[in-house]
Amino acid sequence: MKKSLKITAALATVALFAASCGVVSFTGRKQVLLYTDSEIAALSDESYTEFMSTAKESSNSAATKTLREVGNKMTAALEAYLEKNGQSSALSGLTWEFQLVESTEVNAFCLPNGKIVFYEGIMSYANTPDYIAVVMGHEIAHAIAKHGNERMSQESIVNLLGSAASEAIGAKKGATAQSIFDIGFGIGSQVGVLLPYSRKHEYEADKIGVYIMKLAGYDINAAPAFWEKMMEGGSSSATDFLSTHPSDTKRVAALKEVIQNMPAL
Ligand SMILES: [Zn+2]
Repeated sequence: MKKSLKITAALATVALFAASCGVVSFTGRKQVLLYTDSEIAALSDESYTEFMSTAKESSNSAATKTLREVGNKMTAALEAYLEKNGQSSALSGLTWEFQLVESTEVNAFCLPNGKIVFYEGIMSYANTPDYIAVVMGHEIAHAIAKHGNERMSQESIVNLLGSAASEAIGAKKGATAQSIFDIGFGIGSQVGVLLPYSRKHEYEADKIGVYIMKLAGYDINAAPAFWEKMMEGGSSSATDFLSTHPSDTKRVAALKEVIQNMPAL
């Protein structure tokens, strides 16, 4: 009996895989997405509202203005590109917003609904529009590559297989969506505590980020230069961004390779 339940769970998982495949824009990588874009957006909206109710918007209006200019320029170029290439589905569930908040933390994040938050502390590194575009491109990339949904889906599959029970998969998925989301993106109560993405997601976000920089007309060589700058500063100051974005010579080398092999977009 137990064995057949396990087989049922395994078959159900295979069915889910087959039914829920997505393809990442720019890299063409196939991924499993078990959640709908609106489910992800609803959870993210809640988390973002909670975060902004405790965070303080920066009073540095010049920096905020620059940040929003870069964000708007990059997302406009990206949207035009995706539309032209019939990939607008990558934008489903995303409502871009670019926010600078008061904090000495050297950090930035993007929720899976397209809400991008920079902390004032990172602006001393991202001190030119090109450098801002490096961080911005990387964060936008996490959103359009649906890394949040993919990570939640992987968590969900692990849960399903672990339970080895033949409970209705839909009900199971629904019941755990909130808790799975909170593990990765529950930032409301603990400001800035986001679970780091996997190395695979980080490298993919770096790559796509550079493509978006190129689309929007920014200097793509600023990308490896920025990470080198972060690495230098990382040892002497508390760079929270580095704790979720481990930077080393491999990361910089990978970025340089992306730039060398950049196709015409
Ligand atoms: Zn990242």
